[in-house]
Amino acid sequence: MTSDLLSAVWLNGAVVSVTCAGGRIARLDPVAGPARAVMMPLATDPHVHLDKCFTAHRCRAAKPGLFGAIEAMQSDKALWTEADLRARITRGLAEGYAHGVAALRSHVDWGEPAVPLAWSVMAEAAADWAGRVTLQRAALVSLDLLGDVDHGPAIAARVAADGAVLGCFVYRNADLAAKLARVFRLAADHGLWLDFHVDEGLEPEATGFDDIARLTLLHGMAGRVLCGHACSLAIRPDAAQAIDLAAKAGLALTILPTTNLHLQDMTAGRSPRLRGLAPAQELRAAGVPVLFGADNVRDAFYPYGSHDPVEVLRLACLTLHLSPDDWLDAITTAPAQAMGLPVPRLAVGAPADFILIEGADWTEALSSPRTPRHVFRAGAAHLQGHAA
Ligand SMILES: [Zn+2]
Repeated sequence: MTSDLLSAVWLNGAVVSVTCAGGRIARLDPVAGPARAVMMPLATDPHVHLDKCFTAHRCRAAKPGLFGAIEAMQSDKALWTEADLRARITRGLAEGYAHGVAALRSHVDWGEPAVPLAWSVMAEAAADWAGRVTLQRAALVSLDLLGDVDHGPAIAARVAADGAVLGCFVYRNADLAAKLARVFRLAADHGLWLDFHVDEGLEPEATGFDDIARLTLLHGMAGRVLCGHACSLAIRPDAAQAIDLAAKAGLALTILPTTNLHLQDMTAGRSPRLRGLAPAQELRAAGVPVLFGADNVRDAFYPYGSHDPVEVLRLACLTLHLSPDDWLDAITTAPAQAMGLPVPRLAVGAPADFILIEGADWTEALSSPRTPRHVFRAGAAHLQGHAA
């Protein structure tokens, strides 16, 4: 059945027949349409939280919005034993693998000066899954803790020793610029890459994104700093200047459609008016790489979802008015680049690692989340949801 699909595949604006041999793409021959399936590289998700996922059944926010979710998650941490963490992290990786994920970056909550248990459990999971899914860890520390002169240096040293990514949560903190400057100094000293949760709210005063851009420029860290969220760009009157500054600095931005649509402008008993997604089209037009991530999956921040980048792309296309053909890079090559991983390509001689979704074009392929999808690894196919 998959050989029928491979005989007429939509790839980069043309219909081709795909021949695989020895685990690689052996031939790509133009054929007459219509296509039977669309083709894309395996996906990369730059922003998930495997320490938090699959806790929604036991952890519900008492208050609406981001800070209610943070409080609920905090209380759930009493249940984060080694066995609990391992089971949920493994479930998240298995789910991503089944959906066609090749690599992902998971943030790990780092709330105290001491190294959290999830940090080491995640490292063991990364080793277990090596060769199937590449798992990067990013420390998610509060800016107040990481920017603290007494505690920041030890955290940065540990993250560097573990070959991981340094990150923190930045949102209208007191003394924000000075703390961020210390974080960048730590990154420069240790040669660390940075990943920020920044401006996850809809106040025009949330401008941490600009400070991060200025410091990226100052330290010459273009291509090594990733931001997530920047929701306030959706409503800031000076967003265009902030976007130009980010482009000049070489920042990349991950937009997280599920969590932002769920948490932004959330008030009990009132429908949301503002949707909280950073302006993807303007960012890309200015030269800022735009990435999409699943973010929270089945937890207090977002009780639905799955580790499925194609479903995230589908939602991003709907809510940001994008054409999927033009934005496949946001779940494939752009995150790989921003994470410092080999950039996947579909060409003769490349590994036969790709996803086929049935349909004559991308709008048909994404018409329903239930459209059959086939994940190929080294030329061997399995239907999504079936055992590899
Ligand atoms: Zn996040």
